[in-house]
Amino acid sequence: VDLRHAVEELISTCNSQFQIYYQPIVSLKTGKIAGFESLIRWFQPERGMVSPVEFIPVAEETGLILAIGRWVLQESCNQLQRWQEQLQQPDLTISVNVSGRQFLQADFIPQIEQVLASTRVSAACLKLEITESVLMETATSVTERLEQLRDLGIRLSLDDFGTGYSSLSYLHRFPINTLKIDRSFVKGFGTDQDQIVRAIVTLAHSLKMDVVAEGIETSAQLQHLVQLGCEYGQGYLFSPPVSDDKAEQMLQAGIIWKG
Ligand code: C2E
Ligand code: MG
Ligand code: MG
Repeated sequence: VDLRHAVEELISTCNSQFQIYYQPIVSLKTGKIAGFESLIRWFQPERGMVSPVEFIPVAEETGLILAIGRWVLQESCNQLQRWQEQLQQPDLTISVNVSGRQFLQADFIPQIEQVLASTRVSAACLKLEITESVLMETATSVTERLEQLRDLGIRLSLDDFGTGYSSLSYLHRFPINTLKIDRSFVKGFGTDQDQIVRAIVTLAHSLKMDVVAEGIETSAQLQHLVQLGCEYGQGYLFSPPVSDDKAEQMLQAGIIWKG
């Protein structure tokens, strides 16, 4: 009920309980911010901040995810356009999480086109993150949709890779650009986990995909990932998700992280 109310408010007023936080995605080659992942936050008046892990599944069930998802997409592209222009960083990217229901809605492609047109963000700078479960939906329409997105020039990332029902046998059939290694694999990094991460990196590269490691918390993890040839990293070692103001300060400061 609260979620529905918050969504109605989101649609009807500017006084939203939702906010987008941005987490840097760092190039492990240059140490610079390559882009950000958009992560929604819900500041509920009575309960304070509610985690997306709690409310996104409810939003999915109730269909409220469609309105939320559309807003996140629009707002993320608005923000990216401002940063690209004001800070003269035209190659900066934004990664937006897309839920299954949102991805499969009939007008998803026109929606994306409208957001790109209205914000003047180049398609190549928008990355959509989907999970393996989306790929496992009735395969033909999903493939078609992924191909439409690819034809628009949008890049696709497979989020939480390795935690779902990995569709390894036909991964090569989908036009995916990036595998995001789930943080559970980065966290352990004992010998077994190490072999898994190594295998994912090798798999991605042989399929001409690049790799983002999620949840990097220590410099030992970072050094190891650099050695394995992982292109990008994200995690508390660099920065937690932050408000737009803080993200902008980081961009302005031109922060560089070394492995
Ligand atoms: P995700 O897309 O896999 O996002 C990464 C999550 O890992 C984020 O949690 C981020 O805060 C967290 N994280 C990043 N670095 C570290 C680290 O070093 N250590 C630890 N322990 N955690 C780290 P968050 O923001 O709570 O989001 C959770 C999930 O909620 C996301 O997982 C995503 O699946 C979903 N989500 C968030 N925003 C949206 C959205 O706008 N739309 C949709 N559909 N889903 C969203
Ligand atoms: Mg994600
Ligand atoms: Mg993830």
